Amino acid sequence: MIDAEGLDAFSLITAHDERHAFDAVVPPIVQTSLFTFSSYDEMLATYRGEKTRPVYSRGLNPTVRFFEEMIAKLEGAEDALGFASGMAAISSTVLAFVEPGDRIVAVRHVYPDAFRLFGTILKRMKVDVTYVDGRNEDEVAAALPGAKLLYLESPTSWVMETHDVGALARLAKQHGAVSVIDNSWASPVFQQPIGLGVDIVLHSASKYLSGHSDVVSGVVAGAKVLIDKIRGESLPYLGGKMAPFEAWLLARGLRTLPIRMKAHEASALEIARRLQNLEVVETVCHPALGNRLPPGLKGTSGLFSFIFREGVNIRAFADQLKLFKLGVSWGGHESLIVPGEVVVQQKAQPNSAQAFGIDPRSVRLHIGLEGTEALWRDIEEALVAAKI
Ligand SMILES: *Cc1c(COP(=O)(O)O)cnc(C)c1O
Repeated sequence: MIDAEGLDAFSLITAHDERHAFDAVVPPIVQTSLFTFSSYDEMLATYRGEKTRPVYSRGLNPTVRFFEEMIAKLEGAEDALGFASGMAAISSTVLAFVEPGDRIVAVRHVYPDAFRLFGTILKRMKVDVTYVDGRNEDEVAAALPGAKLLYLESPTSWVMETHDVGALARLAKQHGAVSVIDNSWASPVFQQPIGLGVDIVLHSASKYLSGHSDVVSGVVAGAKVLIDKIRGESLPYLGGKMAPFEAWLLARGLRTLPIRMKAHEASALEIARRLQNLEVVETVCHPALGNRLPPGLKGTSGLFSFIFREGVNIRAFADQLKLFKLGVSWGGHESLIVPGEVVVQQKAQPNSAQAFGIDPRSVRLHIGLEGTEALWRDIEEALVAAKI
């Protein structure tokens, strides 16, 4: 949990310099594609790299830069870079560090579209991916020699496996591999991987960083030399840069991130505990149930899954819920449900329920901000209709 001192630090981070914005308490959106020069000489100096200033918003935009600086501070990183989506952040990061013939190591059950990036574009580039159980450090160590990149996600998508991120980052360092982690689930409020020794942390900012389900974007943070490599070698040509309006919405969302995360945590944990006590539930996959949180994970968010026993009509359960809506993504104010039996039938390739660890009798819940008791009542009422 973030303490009072942490919250104070947070408000300093989300403050901005009002001198440049007519004393406005909210920074303006610099909604422009290009920036003009006052003279030939200024243009020339900028092209020669003697002067750094905005030229074109695919490169540098002040609103996007404001958001990037907030994230760099929150993650304890030297620099950050905003992207048009979480997948743009993931693909631009991975593609900046691999060449044909390289190999990367990834924990199993990574975000499904990251798995598909590895199984399609990376495969065509002749980059091999070795999947490992991130809980087994011997297995990770055995896979690392010769690998360029260690790709982490903790907790993992859907099944919520947690890892000792610091220990895995140390193993990557020993073997000269760049470590990368998808930190979307925990957000910097509950996990700051740079401080645990990870080289690069990335987010789908479409989730908790935005928090209002009105943004699709991503962000990457790390040491300046690593971020510069992505900024110089992949982002400009793949072109998935964050737009100013999204950056502005994200800067707004970040102001309430700690209190939103605490509310998601408390509500989700209570609902997970109650589900665990139900006869019809076999297992609840929530990092705080059953075991202690791994080192470095300071809290839990609103996303978890559970597995129903036989004899529950999952279709009826999902259709009967009123507050929980059927919908992908998560991290907003609203509660959501995704049935595993739908996901395992997804047409996208490569697809493998086994690779994602999705049990067809599982459902994934995102616990929003509607209030624990109202959400629990919704679940109980839907279960009445779902028991056959
Ligand atoms: C949603 C998500 C992504 C992809 O982000 P987009 O913004 O949808 O491109 C990556 N990782 C995780 C864990 C996600 O939940």
